[in-house]
Formats: sequence, C-alpha cells, structure tokens
Amino acid sequence: MVTRQDRADHGGNGRGSAGAKAAAGSHSRHAPERQDDHSRRPPEPFPRPLSSNGLRSPDGPLAARQHLSPARLNRHLPRGGRVARFTAAYGWRALVIPVLAVLTFVTLLDVASTEAAPAPAVVETRPSPLVTAPVETPPPTATAEGEAAPSTVPTVVVPVPFVEQGSGDLSVVPGSSQVYGTGPLQRFIVEVEDGINVDGANFAAAVEATLADPRSWGAGGEMSFQRVDGGDYDFRVSLVSPRNVESFCPGVGTGGYTSCRYGERAVINLARWETAVPEYEGDVATYRNYVVNHEVGHALGNGHVPCPGPGELAPVMQQQTLSLDGCARNGWPFPND
Ligand SMILES: [Zn+2]
Repeated sequence: MVTRQDRADHGGNGRGSAGAKAAAGSHSRHAPERQDDHSRRPPEPFPRPLSSNGLRSPDGPLAARQHLSPARLNRHLPRGGRVARFTAAYGWRALVIPVLAVLTFVTLLDVASTEAAPAPAVVETRPSPLVTAPVETPPPTATAEGEAAPSTVPTVVVPVPFVEQGSGDLSVVPGSSQVYGTGPLQRFIVEVEDGINVDGANFAAAVEATLADPRSWGAGGEMSFQRVDGGDYDFRVSLVSPRNVESFCPGVGTGGYTSCRYGERAVINLARWETAVPEYEGDVATYRNYVVNHEVGHALGNGHVPCPGPGELAPVMQQQTLSLDGCARNGWPFPND
C-alpha cells in the first residue's frame, strides 16, 4: 500500500560546491621597511638627466645615458643575485607573489578534494503548510511504494558525480551467487540502467553483501537469498538514474530524489546511492545498506515504520531518506543480530 506523506520532500540533488576559501592576505601594511629607498620605489635603470639644475648635457638625455659607467649603474642596483636585487627593489611586494602562488595552489587542492568527496550539502526544503498546493496523485494501489511526493524534479546547479539521466533501459547483471543464509529461498535479479557509468558487477556485489549480512532480512534463518540472472525469481533490485526513477515507479512521486518500489522491482536512485542524504552526514556505506534493505523490505511485503523515539535506532522501514526524526541512522532490519 502506498504510504504518502503530506509533506513533500524536495531534495536538491546538487552537490555542495566548495566555497573557495582564498585567503586575501592583508600583507603587512606595517611590514618592516628593511630596505632603503629602492625598496619602496623600483629603481630607475638610469638616472634622469640633470635637467632640473640647468646642467643638461648638450648631447641630450640619450647621450647623458651613454656617459654612465657600469660602476655608476651598479650603485643604483642592490648587490647580490637577481633574486636579491629583485627583492631589494620590490621589498615586501616580492614576497606576495610566491605567497599568493602557494595560497592559490592550496585553494585548488581544497576545491579538488571537496569535489571528490561525497557532499552532504544537499538542501532539503519542505514547503510551508500555507503554500502546500494540492498534488494530484493516483489512487493508492498495492503495487508501488515511494518515499515522498515532491511535485517537481530538483534542479541541479553544480556538477555531480553521477549521471543524471541514463538511457532508460535496464540490463540484467549476468551471473548468479551462492545461497546466502537459511530458510525459504528468495531469488533476486540485479539490474543496472544503461548509460549511468556504474559497474554492474560491483553493484550486484554490494546488493549481495547487504542481503547476505546476518543483520538483513534473513536474520535467524528467516529466509535465504540468491542472486540469479534469469529463470524464476522473486524480486529485482534495479539501479536507476534520478531522472528516470519516476518512470519505473509511475505515480509514486519520487521527484527524482527518493528510491521506490514498484511491483516486483526495488528501484534504487543512483543519486542517493552515490551521495546518501544530508542527515547521513556522508555515511554513504550505511545508507547503501539502508536503501537496499528498505526497498527490498517493501518487495518482501513490509510497510513503513516510524521512529520509535529520540535517540533510538531508526527502523530500516522508517523513511530515513526524508528524515531521521531524531532517530539514529540504521541500515539493518535486525541491527543487533
Ligand atoms: Zn519506503
């Protein structure tokens, strides 16, 4: 049965952009004036012609310059190598260039590392009750379950590390696994949408590892799991790009943000798979356990469960994608097994 919430959940898929933290150096207004006048004003390579006192050379300025001996020129240039002369000539300004270069490099490193990490900076906003617009939704059926009913697809404004929209076609990951656990056998197929740059074998291995875990639905011999790639099966676990999720769960209202279950198919939203949700604070590994167990839990016939109380472990069938509601994140149906 579809469980809908009055609150819509608009999740921005956008990843947080790293704020550039370029430090604008307040470079020493009072830097010690260690140098002579050459430090405050670049030296003129050649002294000006002595025109102010009327002793202008009859040959003109050009000729006057030619009369300068190398020794005289050197008096206007600090001693030492080029660097020393440059430093002496430009004083603290000479230090600004390497300092800015280092700061720029550090800033670029920071931006690069931030963009490489999962960003918990997805902003969720919920519309005020005063502006809640009626959302036309199909009558509830027993065939689909979603986590939210946002009316619009979130706008992505920054580059993201996952494909927003794949081809819309699903490919079954070939191969089968051993039987994990004991109890009645549940066979499942793993599918990955074409064109989302995800290695199907890796995704299948992650799903297998989750369902094979003794804290999953097979805890205590409740049931066993086996991945297959055809023949009889009980459910599918499908990884789908965010913009195509809704097409696999028509009418559920995922908004491209949540995952969903439709019929026999547990549809995992690639955006959530890669970045989790803000309340998970970057704990993508736990979120992946959660989202597989949650959607497969629907496929096995389980409905939603609320947070039992502040500080308690969130039930795996709680809609943790929307909010932990004061509970602690948890990816397992039987976390203590
Ligand atoms: Zn659900």
